[in-house]
Amino acid sequence: MQTLTILGATGSIGLSTLDVAARHPERYVIFALTCHSKIVELAEQCRKFNPRYAVVSDSSKFEELKQLLSIDCPNTEVLSGADGLSCVASRAEVDTVMAAIVGAAGLLPTLEAAQAGKRVLLANKEALVMAGPLFMRAVKEGGATLLPIDSEHNAIFQCLPSDYGIENRGGVRKILLTASGGPFRTIALDALSSVTPKQACAHPNWDMGQKISVDSATMMNKGLELIEACWLFGVTPDEVEVVIHPQSIIHSMVEYIDGSVLAQLGKPDMRTPIAHAMAWPERIDSGVSSLDIVSAARLDFEAPNLERFPCLALAMRAAEIGGSAPTALNAANEVAVDAFLRGQIGFTQIAEIVSTVLNQAENTELSTLEAVQLCDQQAREQARDLIPAIA
Ligand code: NAD
Ligand code: MG
Repeated sequence: MQTLTILGATGSIGLSTLDVAARHPERYVIFALTCHSKIVELAEQCRKFNPRYAVVSDSSKFEELKQLLSIDCPNTEVLSGADGLSCVASRAEVDTVMAAIVGAAGLLPTLEAAQAGKRVLLANKEALVMAGPLFMRAVKEGGATLLPIDSEHNAIFQCLPSDYGIENRGGVRKILLTASGGPFRTIALDALSSVTPKQACAHPNWDMGQKISVDSATMMNKGLELIEACWLFGVTPDEVEVVIHPQSIIHSMVEYIDGSVLAQLGKPDMRTPIAHAMAWPERIDSGVSSLDIVSAARLDFEAPNLERFPCLALAMRAAEIGGSAPTALNAANEVAVDAFLRGQIGFTQIAEIVSTVLNQAENTELSTLEAVQLCDQQAREQARDLIPAIA
């Protein structure tokens, strides 16, 4: 029996995780579920899974959630705010923490789960991008097991030798990180400035939260994933090649020094990587049906066009610079994507804002949490200052 905390239970990854867990009640017991503000949805999940704790990070909703749970779930204790998240991420009874909060908001509880030596299922890539050295140190010192949920990184993990490590690369030459190219892969370049949030969120292959959907449309998502891959697999940015593969059937590949290239294939359904990480090193049913390779018929590949996807180029630059550059990039991107979703800026202004902030940022090493948070805050302020000027 594994006891599971799901940080961000009401989101796209959270829902898929609960779907997999519900298929295996003999293996998984839900310890805690968290949300930011969707307390009606969270209460519904609590009625079904009867967790020990329900956490709402927006503390103003604490009483309301308590009220919602008082009759149907008397055994579920309600917590709120950062302390509530921290508690359920690190409590001794918890074996596994699914880190599925979106953005920098997920950093603290995810870091705490790592420090507490949990089995950390990492969907929240922003936490690793903004605080790579700190996060990897916490995993090592806490004795945590870090398993990637991002479909590409999960695919890479599956294609690496089982004893792969930074000292023992097992003949790995490079990583081929695949990307769908998102909804705007072929749209006319001059039409990009007027695309709407709705168009940007309509991903051709994946059904995801709004922020990652916009990141996929700009390909900032692939840039964040490049940085994520460097930390997870101990490689340098030049050892990762980004390849566009519009069908999203191959989820990434690993090339070896003998010329072999191993790939992981499957339907684009996050329950596959989630079930893989939940059960690893075993395998369980995820609810995903067979891939029909004959009707898929063809797999296409192309190099990304950096003129179309300037956010990918910016992230590649931040990955090369290292230090505080990925932290600033991530923070500026979160602010710009939020402004785009609110209709305050156009789609192409996301890259303009991130570029300006990245150019302004001083490059320093961020070896403490305080330094990471300060850099994140400064980059957010710089990005916010650019919004009224552009809008
Ligand atoms: P989502 O927007 O659907 O869900 C986000 C979750 O985080 C929700 O439960 C929400 O309540 C919670 N949350 C939001 N703001 C918060 C805050 N300030 N404090 C605490 N909790 C907060 O997002 P998603 O698509 O599920 O993505 C979650 C993470 O997983 C992201 O980092 C994303 O990049 C990553 N990821 C998602 C997918 C996917 O298919 N959806 C694939 C790969 C990686
Ligand atoms: Mg991904």
